[in-house]
Amino acid sequence: MLEQVPIKPRSIRDYHGIVEDDLIDEIYSLSKKITDLRILHINATKFGGGVAEILNNYIPLLQDLWVGTVWQTIIADDRLFEVTKSFHNGLQGKECKIGHDEQRTYERFNAYNAQLLEGDWDIVVIHDPQPLAIPYYLEKNHTKWLWRCHIDASEADANVWAYLDPYLKEFDGAIFSLESFIPDNFPIKKRYVVHPAIDPLSEKNKEIDQKLASSIIKSHGLDITKPIMTQISRFDPWKDPLGVIEAYKLAKKKIDGLQLVLVGSMANDDPEGWKIYQKVVDISKKDKNIFIFTNLGDLDINAFQSASSLVIQKSIKEGFGLTVAEAMWKENLVIGGDTGGIRLQIIDGETGYLVNSVEECAGKVVYSLNDPSVKGEIGKRAKEHIRKEFLIPRLLRDELRIYNELLEK
Ligand code: UDP
Repeated sequence: MLEQVPIKPRSIRDYHGIVEDDLIDEIYSLSKKITDLRILHINATKFGGGVAEILNNYIPLLQDLWVGTVWQTIIADDRLFEVTKSFHNGLQGKECKIGHDEQRTYERFNAYNAQLLEGDWDIVVIHDPQPLAIPYYLEKNHTKWLWRCHIDASEADANVWAYLDPYLKEFDGAIFSLESFIPDNFPIKKRYVVHPAIDPLSEKNKEIDQKLASSIIKSHGLDITKPIMTQISRFDPWKDPLGVIEAYKLAKKKIDGLQLVLVGSMANDDPEGWKIYQKVVDISKKDKNIFIFTNLGDLDINAFQSASSLVIQKSIKEGFGLTVAEAMWKENLVIGGDTGGIRLQIIDGETGYLVNSVEECAGKVVYSLNDPSVKGEIGKRAKEHIRKEFLIPRLLRDELRIYNELLEK
């Protein structure tokens, strides 16, 4: 059997007063039509990265609505994840050659996991490329297969799509985070666009007292009387941690006592993480005002997003960037890379700042820290933007619509 991820119960009723009542009513009415369904979500890892974060928050709400939903992860190790991280990088635009050995590894792991798949499901949702080939190895039956792509594939290396093409053909529908991520000639005819979302009631995003947040940050060795810029991200080249360090170095020439925090989680399916982490540590060694942490708890993340002077997400490519929504929800000022899903969230100058270079990033850090009123105004608009567009009940509604539509046809 694939590995079943345990779920902590949540209730959709608790979101009354946070999102519009109409939205909750629509969720109830959509869910009533499909309560006898069996839905399975499969991804690569139960910890680390945005997919696990979303599933952790989303599956309990479907269960609360009596929609029979289960989350399982594949059985795999670095042999597969080395290959699929190169697919991931290829989909984000890096050149990707898929050799014979890589193909064999990918196919073997997927065939093996197909064998481990148990149960009779009405809908199976496969997340990202790691388990994408599973349906290829199974007999066709009534099950509807959906592929959920969380990656910014707007400039993908054609080799990756070409290699995945026969596997993609097995699916009944695909969900992308943005319209512009769908490639020309994509083999799945039924395409949907659903923007990701955060859970305002999770440990990571619930409102915490600023004093508590500051004391948590202080307990990690920071001086809370001096400015703090923070990026929370996997250690991944696309998140540009080295660019963040460069921007910090420029900004600190103008901002006395500036501190930089880089917090990263090590996802099981991202073997590149430790290599980038090591680079970041080596580069930062001599600067006592750079703080690097790995695998902090959700309350710590909450504290850094709430009480840092500002938050950076200097990605070069970004499917969505939950970390942006998380910090905006806490009324913090986010300076984000002008790319992919970050553009959905940050309206430049209104709900945060978009930047295209190290210099621009440093400039916005200095400007914002010199005028604290900037954060106050932008922070309020940022929170409202996230409330309207990027909270988990809206994601739930969008996906319930898809399940309903898929089964009607
Ligand atoms: N995250 C975390 N601890 C870390 C770094 C990241 O809990 O040290 C979380 C972060 O808060 C967010 C998710 O991991 O919920 C990352 O999602 P995002 O969409 O920003 O990026 P991805 O990793 O999926 O590319």
